[in-house]
Amino acid sequence: MTTTTNKKRILSGMRATGRLHLGNFVGALENWVKMQGEYENYHLVADWHVLTTDAEHTDQILPNTIEMVRDWLSAGIDPNISPMFRQSQVKEHAELHLLFSMLVTQSRLERNPTLKDQIRDLRDKLQARDIADKDRPDNEVTDSGLVTYGHLGYPVLQAADILLYKGNVVPVGEDQLPHVEITREIARRFNRYYGEVFPEPTGYVLKESKFSRLPGSDGKRMSKSLGNTIYLSDSEEETGKGIMSMVTDVQKVRRNDPGRPEVCNVFTYHQKFNPDEIPQIETDCKSGELGCVACKKNCAAKLNAYLAPMRERRQQYDDNAVMDILTAGEAKARAVAQDTMIQVRDAMNFG
Ligand code: SF4
Repeated sequence: MTTTTNKKRILSGMRATGRLHLGNFVGALENWVKMQGEYENYHLVADWHVLTTDAEHTDQILPNTIEMVRDWLSAGIDPNISPMFRQSQVKEHAELHLLFSMLVTQSRLERNPTLKDQIRDLRDKLQARDIADKDRPDNEVTDSGLVTYGHLGYPVLQAADILLYKGNVVPVGEDQLPHVEITREIARRFNRYYGEVFPEPTGYVLKESKFSRLPGSDGKRMSKSLGNTIYLSDSEEETGKGIMSMVTDVQKVRRNDPGRPEVCNVFTYHQKFNPDEIPQIETDCKSGELGCVACKKNCAAKLNAYLAPMRERRQQYDDNAVMDILTAGEAKARAVAQDTMIQVRDAMNFG
């Protein structure tokens, strides 16, 4: 195994879905940046994984990859410390995926709870696009008619992604823990059959805080599909508009009405991006001293100040710079992956 440090190795990735919003930042990316010194981080652009939900529009994968990686860089991931790479450019992912697919049963994969979520997403998509046979309502398409071999094998490819780099730790949301468990089972089975090659990685659950599910402008969880997002790449003006359009305490109708900060989305943003002023805002909101327009303007200013260093960093990375960073990261990732595959092939007598 190619080891450059004694630090534990983390493999973390995102599907290549384009620009990231503030919810992605506080839910995951911010943690990646914080973990940079403590662990040896590898950051995967899961571009093959995108095919499970959108196999038709492959022309969007590269532009989406570039936008997403630009966001990683602007958030403060240092590519010299933490390689960033595309899954599709390290073919060993496919080879290990194939070998691992022999070590897990169909029924085990069918029990994977995230499969149900995928089916639900697929149904939503089918209805939204109206691509179903017009003579056959969507609800008559059976689950097994929707699920591809790729959906079922999603956690197997993810196990290959993680174990190829011998990741010790996998930062995940609570909902992704079943995938880490499948990875551990595959690693155990492989080691039992062929000898000790893989570590059993531990799922590092990203701490759920009220900020992990940052509300969008409508108060629901921030999500591209709901159109309630503030993107990291938004301009100051767009960010300001996003904050000004936010739902606040519906009972605070006039400026001097007493408010309830505990139910107000803007207050959540103050807590995250303007913590120093929280006691004052809370007091003034409750007493009716503070009006929502002024409060939102202040929030927008603080958020823009928070995002300013990211905007500045973003300027350094045009498309060519991002591609150069990916190419360099892919060379580093490939070296580790090839090293692992030599051990795998030897262990399995395919050497
Ligand atoms: S004053 Fe601020 S915290 Fe209070 S309800 Fe209005 S926007 Fe929310």
